[in-house]
Amino acid sequence: MKSVIIIGIIVLLIAGVMFTQNKASRAVKSVMGDTSALRQRVLWEKATEMPFSGVFDEFFEDGTYSCAGCGTELFKSNSKYNSGCGWPAFSSAMTNGMVEEEVDNSLGMRRVEVHCKKCKAHLGHVFEDGPAPTGLRYCINSISLNFTADKTQIPKQSKEKK
Ligand SMILES: [Zn+2]
Repeated sequence: MKSVIIIGIIVLLIAGVMFTQNKASRAVKSVMGDTSALRQRVLWEKATEMPFSGVFDEFFEDGTYSCAGCGTELFKSNSKYNSGCGWPAFSSAMTNGMVEEEVDNSLGMRRVEVHCKKCKAHLGHVFEDGPAPTGLRYCINSISLNFTADKTQIPKQSKEKK
């Protein structure tokens, strides 16, 4: 009789652990699902992420930004600046010519849409109110980009103890 009770308790414990894990994995899945759904809409349906919501808006590390659709390198961090517009802004694209422009007359405005030349993924728009010398502001969705830090970056020195 005792052994039946012990087995019953063990079964309940296993069921409880399995239920908790399942719940946790569902939560992770829904967060990732939301991000990838937004990414799909931005990349392939030219949607725009909410201003001030993207991971690269206030991000200024040294490195290279590549297309989230195909991995082609598109922007360097040295052209990135804080425009205050709520999206990552670059004063120029990389000289590899992989950022392609196209006139966009949607929403009753004439804008110049930019996309990845290789996979045609939508990146954002380019405006003529950027800083010198280009005068351009590439206003790009964070979610359209991936970032790779420079490998040559010198590691930060730890503060010397007094
Ligand atoms: Zn691409």
